[in-house]
Amino acid sequence: MINFQIQSDLSNIFNKAESGERLSFEDGIRLYESNDLLTIGKMADMVRKRKNGLKTYFTMNQHINPTNICRNSCLFCAFYRKDGEEGAYRMSLDTVRQKLEERIDEDIREVHIVGGLDDSLPYEYYLDVLRVVREVRPEVNIKAYTAVEIAYLAERSGKSWGAVLDDLMAVGLQAMPGGGAEIFSERVKRKLFMDKLSSEDWIHIHHLAHERGIRTNATMLYGHIESIEERVDHLVKLREGQDKSGGFLTFIPLAFHPENTKMHKLPQATGFDDLKNIAISRLMLDNFDHIKAYWVMLSTKIAQIALSFGADDIDGSVVEERIYHMAGADTAQMMTRKQLRNLISECGLEPVERDALYHIIQRDVA
Ligand code: SF4
Repeated sequence: MINFQIQSDLSNIFNKAESGERLSFEDGIRLYESNDLLTIGKMADMVRKRKNGLKTYFTMNQHINPTNICRNSCLFCAFYRKDGEEGAYRMSLDTVRQKLEERIDEDIREVHIVGGLDDSLPYEYYLDVLRVVREVRPEVNIKAYTAVEIAYLAERSGKSWGAVLDDLMAVGLQAMPGGGAEIFSERVKRKLFMDKLSSEDWIHIHHLAHERGIRTNATMLYGHIESIEERVDHLVKLREGQDKSGGFLTFIPLAFHPENTKMHKLPQATGFDDLKNIAISRLMLDNFDHIKAYWVMLSTKIAQIALSFGADDIDGSVVEERIYHMAGADTAQMMTRKQLRNLISECGLEPVERDALYHIIQRDVA
């Protein structure tokens, strides 16, 4: 039962959210146009509590970015380098193994793998990375390769998207990250990430994964040149995609970090906009179970507040993050289990440790 009064012109949206009625495209626009952040946050918190109660998820995970060498040159990306350029790297399989073994004493439940589209690496390398993870950590969930990487591997190998997914599944793939979606707008794609997938192809690859039992995440990159109509359109397309397959686990709004990119003159998204995106995505994506406040991108301070604005997941320990840190993120490189639990408990919420597939991990000690 909700015990707060809606004083603003968002009351009819509140009524829909309260009764579980789906919000329309126009409702999404009105939410983005409103500056009544607290009301939007209250509505999103109501939906979050209806879906997940006080449960707030985190995971002990490790990120591995095997190569930052990429054939594409997306304008918003600070991570990629061209072969031979300063800062370019390509991990050998021994290095991948070493990175995993360095953390072997920690009870990590998810290994998250994404990287560049590196023309010098053979197709088999991408499979071998997963084989190495399986050898070193037979029990861990492997969440690897965005839809953009799947399409790239298909092009490189001459195989279909589905066949690439089958090959990856055979060596341990269980889940896919949500990257590469950016914003589902042809206008923005032409300007910022011309060589990437169309929205239809991105969603199609995720549907192919869902058909095979691979669960996936979805993202939206905001705070660059996109309009609010494009943001809402992105959310509506994801919602339609989820209606068809039900295979998306979590939605993660990702703020554009301009530092060290070709768009460094743009201002960084504000905390106000970060919270608004978390809250509006919770309200619009009625068929997604989880909304994540990715602390690496938001900062731990904003991520904590986001947990009362619709988010029910804060990601994980991470260990070594390159993509946002190369774009100027000044957050820590890792968090311990205790720190993650404290961050959540301090908000009056219940920390729940999960694996990549949202299986709950029971432990006797914090
Ligand atoms: S966003 Fe991905 S595809 Fe684009 S340049 Fe960066 S690593 Fe390459």
